[in-house]
Amino acid sequence: MATKPPTGDPIQDAPQVTPPKHAAAGLPAIGHTLRIAQQQMGVARTARTLLKVNQKDGFDCPGCAWPEGDKRHTAEFCENGAKAVAEEATLRRVTPEFFAAHPLADLATRSGYWLGQQGRITEPMLLERGAAPGGDDRYEPVSWEKAFEVIAEELTALDSPDEALFYTSGRTSNEAAFLFQLFAREFGTNNLPDCSNMCHESSGSALTETIGIGKGSVSLEDLHRADLIIVAGQNPGTNHPRMLSALEKAKTAGARIISVNPLPEAGTERFKNPQTPIGMFRGTALTDLFLQIRIGGDQALFRLLNKLVIETDGATDEAFIREHTHGYEDLVAAAKEADWEETLTATGLTRPEIEQALAMVLASERTIVCWAMGLTQHKHAVATIREVVNLLLLRGNIGRPGAGVCPVRGHSNVQGDRTMGIFERPAPAFLDALDREFGITSPRGHGYDVVRSIQALRDGRAKVLFAMGGNFVGATPDTEVTEAAIRKAALTVHVSTKLNRSHAVTGRRALILPTLGRTDKDVQQSGKQFVTVEDSMGMVHASRGNLAPASPHLLSEPAIVARMARAVLGTASATPWEEFERDYASIRERISRVIPGFEDFNARVARPGGFQLPHAPRDERRFPTKTGKANFTAAPVEYPRVPAGRLLLQTLRSHDQYNTTIYGLDDRYRGITGGRRVVMVNPADAAELGLADGSYTDLVSEWTDGVERRAPGFRVVHYPTARGCAAAYYPETNVLVPLDSTADVSNTPASKSVVVRFEPA
Ligand code: SF4
Repeated sequence: MATKPPTGDPIQDAPQVTPPKHAAAGLPAIGHTLRIAQQQMGVARTARTLLKVNQKDGFDCPGCAWPEGDKRHTAEFCENGAKAVAEEATLRRVTPEFFAAHPLADLATRSGYWLGQQGRITEPMLLERGAAPGGDDRYEPVSWEKAFEVIAEELTALDSPDEALFYTSGRTSNEAAFLFQLFAREFGTNNLPDCSNMCHESSGSALTETIGIGKGSVSLEDLHRADLIIVAGQNPGTNHPRMLSALEKAKTAGARIISVNPLPEAGTERFKNPQTPIGMFRGTALTDLFLQIRIGGDQALFRLLNKLVIETDGATDEAFIREHTHGYEDLVAAAKEADWEETLTATGLTRPEIEQALAMVLASERTIVCWAMGLTQHKHAVATIREVVNLLLLRGNIGRPGAGVCPVRGHSNVQGDRTMGIFERPAPAFLDALDREFGITSPRGHGYDVVRSIQALRDGRAKVLFAMGGNFVGATPDTEVTEAAIRKAALTVHVSTKLNRSHAVTGRRALILPTLGRTDKDVQQSGKQFVTVEDSMGMVHASRGNLAPASPHLLSEPAIVARMARAVLGTASATPWEEFERDYASIRERISRVIPGFEDFNARVARPGGFQLPHAPRDERRFPTKTGKANFTAAPVEYPRVPAGRLLLQTLRSHDQYNTTIYGLDDRYRGITGGRRVVMVNPADAAELGLADGSYTDLVSEWTDGVERRAPGFRVVHYPTARGCAAAYYPETNVLVPLDSTADVSNTPASKSVVVRFEPA
């Protein structure tokens, strides 16, 4: 029987700590999966949903963007995928009665965990700050018509369309994303910030410049065929768990694995695959070489590896370099300057470790580098990813089966949304095609990304935030600044399935628009609909929900955009918004005419498993860059410098977390249970700083603006982090990340390198 949501907000700063684990998944993963699924859905519903997730006739997991192979297992999901499904298919409900019982002031005191555990929102809700006597503001039920009226009122009252922000979270389907960007452009703005601004924007910027397309170049089959896989700045055991199956398969085929991370992670150490009895109990050792790098030391590491490859006779693929690349000489010159002294300082690694890595690189004919936020959320992130590309180009590991670049996307359709045009800096060719197709005149000026959107709200240059899914307030940096900026808005609108912090921090007027989830059946006038998503490896496939919607009052994401567009644009718009709501095939028809690679979209996506998008560097070794070649780059080596008595903090997820969604208070692979306000510190650093294990401390970040940002009351956990490096969970530590501390070029918040000091709590 599904359980009721927790009433009280559980104490979160009394965690228990035991030694970290050395293997991921196994029997415990099955236990945790079934416990959480049963709590949220009960037994029967658990079976109905988990047997459909990631199946060819089922729905796409609302978790990360890891692909499925052509052959599907009965259980085609991981523990964290099951948690994501359970949270969405939960039987718990947030009704108007809930909001009547919980005024805004109360919701604002609640943790993200508690808010998320309350269940699915059942009806549209409106809040008018200052309207209630005694300031006792609370959300009230509102009709959909009235909700769209309020949106139209506020949007049409703006002095400029650029005072509106249209934010997209990576859960949004291709169809909804395509309509959302079309609406924004017909309305007159490119203000389309999205969650990838905060995660893989640095990858997109670096790859577009170096190989001509901002996406990974490998398929799942490539990963199985690689003979060397470098996993850098990524914790797949928690954030992309089924990647472990692919690593296991590659290992079984003889591949070797190097993992580069400031933290030892159970998931890259050993994988106990629950799909096989042997796997479940003995498991497979994954990492052959663990490089416990200092936070932000990756560019220096790859630069030195590139130097050593260049200096090793016969180690470079001269034919590939000659035929397909540009800028080799600049890299050779820059590599000459790379020296052991600086690199060992920057990386915290030893010479023998780097020489071991070099030997594995030289022994490999098919190398793949996988990465995530550990590389993308630093000031020099773009330069670091370019350096990764340099290593692959030197040995011709792009456009070769079993080789290539693999930025692993964290949200189920974040890559698809970008492909659909959710981008504040759209390519002119895309806008030309859109204008041709719809007879509109899209704005050409670049819009605001996430950081610039917050700055615009703070400075009064933006007045309306419309968020398609996600948790804008919880996911963004500099929490106090962001929350104050949001509260200045005239209107905040959140299209949501469940509650989160963004519903408790509002503009003067706030709307919650409850929408269908991936697990819900979506029936429109033309019948049952499906949506499509694009995974981390460019596979586009259908997703069909199988559950009765959580409430009869929900609208689908495409329907919400179509009705908003009609309310705001009125009869002036020739776009067939009603037809798009009635039948999503008509949306796909238009997509097939606007976006290259989607020709014959409806027919191709109707095939079980869908289709793979073209990728010129992978498919033809053709590089659509400014030079028409793959570009080597030679940026100066950078790495964070930390004053004495401070440490470099990275913000990260626990194992019971997906982005800002908190499934539970445990981080069992790291041996931390029952709490989240912890800071992991290397015992030797703790000794030097006088931080006893189990003591409590405030974290204070220091930034060039002289503002002290404080996160109070964290339990010190002595943990085998790299020297000089600490780690703590977000969103609790987002308050420490200055808004202006971002990556060069991509403007991604530098959430992985925050200089902090410790003060007694
Ligand atoms: S690996 Fe990612 S997409 Fe696959 S089931 Fe797990 S969370 Fe979902």
